[in-house]
Amino acid sequence: PADALDLRAHIVDLPDHPEPGVIFRDITPVLAHPEALASAVDQLTALTAELGVERVIAAEARGFLLGPALARELGAGFLLARKPGKLPRETIAVSYELEYGTDHLEVHADLLPPGTRVLVHDDLLATGGTAGALCSLVERLGGEVVACSFLVELGFLGGRAALAPHDVHALVRYD
Ligand code: IMP
Repeated sequence: PADALDLRAHIVDLPDHPEPGVIFRDITPVLAHPEALASAVDQLTALTAELGVERVIAAEARGFLLGPALARELGAGFLLARKPGKLPRETIAVSYELEYGTDHLEVHADLLPPGTRVLVHDDLLATGGTAGALCSLVERLGGEVVACSFLVELGFLGGRAALAPHDVHALVRYD
């Protein structure tokens, strides 16, 4: 079956990218391979299918790769979190710390009714800064974060602990 496929075999390692000592995990071959793409969406769906997810929220740009497909499979809607100034209507914003400096994300404020059950999604969990910012946005709008899901988890960066008490699910983990 499609969901038995080993996604790790479709992730390409780039040593010393973007700087010495860092291994970049490139997931674009997963997207390029028809069976791997189908399996990634199927496996992500299976992780959270029982949670009653009503919306998936993800940040530009890489959260948009699988977020809408995942939302479709879960029978949920999709919410875009974008960089400042991109969304045309009234937004609510959150700022979060990067390794060097601060970044911001915005979401349309009227698209998340209070009490909505929300899944936070991204392609990859590193420090948890991006997903943590999405959790804050959801909670400030009165939504309930039911879990966070990722294709890849870089376990050694502590993102799972940073997102506690939220549940974290990932298909491929590097330690
Ligand atoms: P975090 O906010 O520190 O958890 O970083 C997660 C974000 O950085 C995700 O949106 C990823 O797209 C990106 N990212 C960090 N490291 C990698 C990598 O090795 N491969 C692909 N994306 C990465």
